[in-house]
Amino acid sequence: MILNSLNPAQQEAVVAPLGHQLVLAGAGSGKTRVLIYRIAWLIEHEHISPFNILAVTFTNKAANEMRTRVESMLNVPVKSMWIGTFHGLSHRFLRAHWQEAGLPQAFQILDSDDQFRLIRRVIHAMNLDEERFPPKEAQWFINAQKEEAREPHQVELRDFTAQTLIQIYQAYQEACQRAGVIDFTDLLLKTYKLLLSNDTLRQHYQERFRCLLVDEFQDTNTLQYSWLKLFAGENNSIMIVGDDDQSIYGWRGARIENIQRFSKDFPGANIIRLEQNYRSTGTILKAANALISQNSGRLGKNLWTEDQEGELITSYAAFNETDEAFFIVNRIRDLRQGEFALRDMAILYRSNAQSRVIEEALMQFGIPYRVYGGLRYFDRAEIKDALAYLRIIANRHDDPAFERIINTPTRGIGDKTVNAIREQAKTANQPLWYALITLLEKKFFSARADSALANFVNLINAMDEKTVGMDLHKQVEYVLYSSGLIEHYRKEKGEKGLTRLENLEELVNAAHQFSQEAVPDEMSPLAAFLAYAALESKDDQAEAYDDSVQLMTLHSAKGLEFPVVFLAGCEEELFPHYLSMNDPKAMEEERRLCYVGVTRAMKKLFMTYAELRRMHGKEAYHRPSRFLREIPVELVDEVRFRTKVSRVQPVASTPAYKPQAQGRFRIGQDVHHRVFGEGTVLDVEGDGDEMKVKVRFGSVGTKVLIASYLT
Ligand code: ATP
Ligand code: MG
Repeated sequence: MILNSLNPAQQEAVVAPLGHQLVLAGAGSGKTRVLIYRIAWLIEHEHISPFNILAVTFTNKAANEMRTRVESMLNVPVKSMWIGTFHGLSHRFLRAHWQEAGLPQAFQILDSDDQFRLIRRVIHAMNLDEERFPPKEAQWFINAQKEEAREPHQVELRDFTAQTLIQIYQAYQEACQRAGVIDFTDLLLKTYKLLLSNDTLRQHYQERFRCLLVDEFQDTNTLQYSWLKLFAGENNSIMIVGDDDQSIYGWRGARIENIQRFSKDFPGANIIRLEQNYRSTGTILKAANALISQNSGRLGKNLWTEDQEGELITSYAAFNETDEAFFIVNRIRDLRQGEFALRDMAILYRSNAQSRVIEEALMQFGIPYRVYGGLRYFDRAEIKDALAYLRIIANRHDDPAFERIINTPTRGIGDKTVNAIREQAKTANQPLWYALITLLEKKFFSARADSALANFVNLINAMDEKTVGMDLHKQVEYVLYSSGLIEHYRKEKGEKGLTRLENLEELVNAAHQFSQEAVPDEMSPLAAFLAYAALESKDDQAEAYDDSVQLMTLHSAKGLEFPVVFLAGCEEELFPHYLSMNDPKAMEEERRLCYVGVTRAMKKLFMTYAELRRMHGKEAYHRPSRFLREIPVELVDEVRFRTKVSRVQPVASTPAYKPQAQGRFRIGQDVHHRVFGEGTVLDVEGDGDEMKVKVRFGSVGTKVLIASYLT
């Protein structure tokens, strides 16, 4: 194994004797690289079998990359190594131990959208007012309790609202149990509890996993940390790598304190610091260091690089969000002519809602792009319909799947009928499927409903029988056609229907591809595929196969790097987010998020903001983000008013963007601006495309604008 592509500190971490290691280091210093080399080292030099290794990554994609890297370094497959996210690994564990965990063998994973729907149904079934107990809040509450490993009866009663939320939590748990489904947090919680209570299993796994490794440790929450401790036991060695300055999931329960706890819980842990950054230019790194130095209580480290200073950071003050989008797109077009491919460029933003305007601008210029963290493939309605059929075939208890497909495609089963089934399920404490069978046996329904329902039952049973022994992708294909979904979406007119059909066909491909990859022994291919669909769609990051610009939130950019980064929407209220304004701790987390964003950039960084932005349906002025001010001015090149756009650029009617011809303005002339209203020209500078006009408006005082905004 070649170690000379590592610096001395990295080498120290990689070749350290078995024991505990804490690699605490800044962005781009090679933490993830160290982890990969460490795994290879353990296998090759410490003769640890891959079977005895457990590695936790932030995304499934990162896990796959790591596995591939290790395999190519060692030239041997490492299939038996457990590597994945906390959720993925817990799932694997529960598939092997469903019985001990009290789960049905065919248990299915509930994604957060399914979870939301189920909670809403529970709230309705309890006859509670949705206004008073919004399902979203209940969902938040339930997940937060689970993340602290608290069952309904362990939650402290504070007041009536809390009491009711606890009842919702309880009823939701029962509904999950009945349906044989398990939500994301439960994957971890059930794993943790089973290990805690079952001595034999715990011993077995503690003997098995002699080496544990965790990337992005700063974002583990209480439950994840306890999970790790149980797997690690007393005698195994564990290496964690992380950066306290990149902890950005505090709002979801992550605890930076876990880093300090680690040193106490795993005595003798060797602390290794990496300070050389290999990712970014000197300028970008200085900006990042200056920014993060504004935070208090850091564990403290300073990053340096041997790289050149590089170019200045570009900041751009856009007039509004459309202007901002066009600035970005114009720069992308320029850079594309030079040394950068589209996939080298990423546009990062604080909130998902920001992507729409940017997407429209990219579309106008026909620039391919990919949005991560939006509606992902497996989250699409038609895909979820198809998956629901597969799920109910695998497990008739799956109530959420039942609800989804009982009348999709429409088969004349109305709300009243479904309500009757729900009622029966509730009274008899049965899954919906069995409630339906009971009612059919009792001849409960009208003749029409009866035959529609009987057909549904026969359809599912027939699908189940016919697909036995089929290859996974054949199974999927069979279900798509026999369910009537293909026919159903074929009838949907226009582009949308076509896209849905294409998506459904893609599912057959996905299944085909999947079945050729490794399916862990513990699972049937269908179970593994369904779990993959649920967990993959949870991932905020996915693979980009084609050459396209990458769009994603700052949160999902964690761990990644791009030669060119655009950080859009650097304005007060948006970033830092208005909800964090009055909370110093939350503000520091916003700053860490900005630090994550800045440190994704390798060569070029653009930070843009809009003076005027439509947010939450209202137009509002915002000051540039404080984070911009915290970057030393000498590192920044401020660009103003280069692109020109009028505010409205409907995509369909404007095939290509062309700057409007400029008018001429005189000092003293009365002008009109569509947002600021009436004003008087005070000064004119430049001409043609570069013409700037200083105007005094009655409403907002003096502004410098480009001429095209005025009439
Ligand atoms: P982050 O905190 O963002 O997760 P990280 O600390 O995990 O970053 P890596 O992603 O492992 O950092 O490394 C950053 C970049 O630097 C990668 O492109 C990696 O290949 C490169 N790199 C790391 N160490 C070295 C080295 N010793 N020599 C050359 N390149 C290196
Ligand atoms: Mg990393």
